[in-house]
Amino acid sequence: MNGKEMQGNQPIDPQVRQKEMELVRKKLTALFGKIDHEVPLLLFTDPTINHLYNEVLRAVTRSIREVASLVTLREFDGSHALAKKHGVSHFPTLLFDPEHFAIRWLGAPVGEEGRAFVEAITMLGYRQTQISAPSRKVLERITTPRAIKLFISPTCPFCPQQVVNGLKAAIARPELISLEIIDIQANPKLAEQYNAFSVPVCFANEVMIAKGAQPEELFMASLEKLAQQSFFIPESEAEQVDTDVTIIGGGPSGLAAGIYAARSGLKAVIIERGALGGQVALTPVVENYPGLSRIEGKTLVDIMVSHALEYVTIYPDEEVMEIKSGPPFEILTNRRRYTARAVLFATGASYRRLGVPGEERLAGSGVSYCTTCDGALFKGKEVIVVGGGDSALTDALYLANNEIRVTVVHRRESFRAQDHLVKQLNKHGIQVLFNCEVKEIRGGSKVEAVVVQNNQSGELMTRATDGVFVAVGYQPAVELARKTGLALTPEGFIQVDKNHRTSVPGIYAAGDVEGGYRQIVTAAGQGSGAAITIFEDLINPYWK
Ligand code: NAP
Repeated sequence: MNGKEMQGNQPIDPQVRQKEMELVRKKLTALFGKIDHEVPLLLFTDPTINHLYNEVLRAVTRSIREVASLVTLREFDGSHALAKKHGVSHFPTLLFDPEHFAIRWLGAPVGEEGRAFVEAITMLGYRQTQISAPSRKVLERITTPRAIKLFISPTCPFCPQQVVNGLKAAIARPELISLEIIDIQANPKLAEQYNAFSVPVCFANEVMIAKGAQPEELFMASLEKLAQQSFFIPESEAEQVDTDVTIIGGGPSGLAAGIYAARSGLKAVIIERGALGGQVALTPVVENYPGLSRIEGKTLVDIMVSHALEYVTIYPDEEVMEIKSGPPFEILTNRRRYTARAVLFATGASYRRLGVPGEERLAGSGVSYCTTCDGALFKGKEVIVVGGGDSALTDALYLANNEIRVTVVHRRESFRAQDHLVKQLNKHGIQVLFNCEVKEIRGGSKVEAVVVQNNQSGELMTRATDGVFVAVGYQPAVELARKTGLALTPEGFIQVDKNHRTSVPGIYAAGDVEGGYRQIVTAAGQGSGAAITIFEDLINPYWK
């Protein structure tokens, strides 16, 4: 069927239609003749809406029923009680085996959509989706419902691939995953509501999880994380991994080190216990990474991780518990064992806490350390940002740009943040309380107020607020380093020489965990420098 014929609700030439239907029938017989599972179809139409779509959908489903004895079709008017029972409010809607699956088609299989429609019947009729083992594993990790809304159009050649992904998910986990395939031409109001004019675009639980067609595993990963993913790392079953260099930490320094080490011919792996990209993934916007004048932190991470994956294997969600002395070293994680001729600590740093009463109790209930994660929850409300460095000002600007009333509380009389951030803050008219410290965070089940002290006058004041964003710097992640016997600096960073060698031969450190400027670009520089040292030391070990 030709999508163009449907546009503008123009009548279809009966002869053309007859010919096309014959061809369709032939193809359907070949495809569906041997279906071995029942596929009950429930068609709901409203004669006053989308007449041509109703007609096409009716014709197609009737044709399928003719050639596949196990495909049954029941047709209902939109006012029928079953429409209410199944929550059908758009017409036409086709339900696929609603007793066993939550899959529905809103519109008719016109143009490119025909391919996807055929896939739907085939997958259900043969109960075969050809889903890959890694995709299945991702789906098995999903424990809460996912309601997918996938917007497509008859003229979109990429849409069928995304429909197939959705079908695979909804067929694999019918108890949790529902799928609505929505033709934007038949459902213009829905498309407008979701701003779904560039198809395919996919929402899950009302969150946009994908624009464009994705490889199957990426679709499943996006569905699991409820956020668009740009890389997929399959789970490894290996019990032991032998490496030249094991890198602990998947932030900019670890990723850069991985690329450099692998390009020197070393077998390198990266182990990451938390979020890949470290703090960068939580940075709203990065404007000082050379070559990228303005980029979202998460996007920069995606680019870096995808690049690193060209060279190294990354083991996400895995924590190093112990490093047994070497070289060669034995690295024990919560999943497996690694051997390594050298180990690189690129463990980064985590948010510093204020350490005031109420902070720990109300963390996640108004106290936050991440504007990009939690900022949206405070739209239209009032918050306090604590700190006077780049993070505090970046966070304050991000929040103000999201229609949140912000007051910055800083313990000194001037900021240490970059001048351009200070100028922006002033330009936005964001209120600042200089020489003030937050002494307590108050609230019942959520933050209600802060107690602020002026450290010049000693005066205490209670200020009502909906949230407190703490941006007072970072603490290096050195627990494992300490346990491994690495010397630390008086400030608590891993002690290194100018070549990133620690106090233990064969173990190196790079990035925020060794202190220094703590910039994305310097972390990447430290990582690449450490990898070059490791390469040279493994050829000519300085400890021998
Ligand atoms: P930072 O530069 O260490 O600043 C921390 C701020 O928190 C300081 O103003 C500090 O006050 C204050 N502070 C520390 N402990 C406190 C406490 N207990 N109570 C109240 N205030 C406290 O940390 P950051 O701003 O997170 O930045 C870390 C690194 O990342 C820096 O190198 C920064 O340049 C970089 N960064 C860059 C960007 C960017 O370029 N876009 C964005 C974010 C971060 P004092 O001034 O009194 O010490």
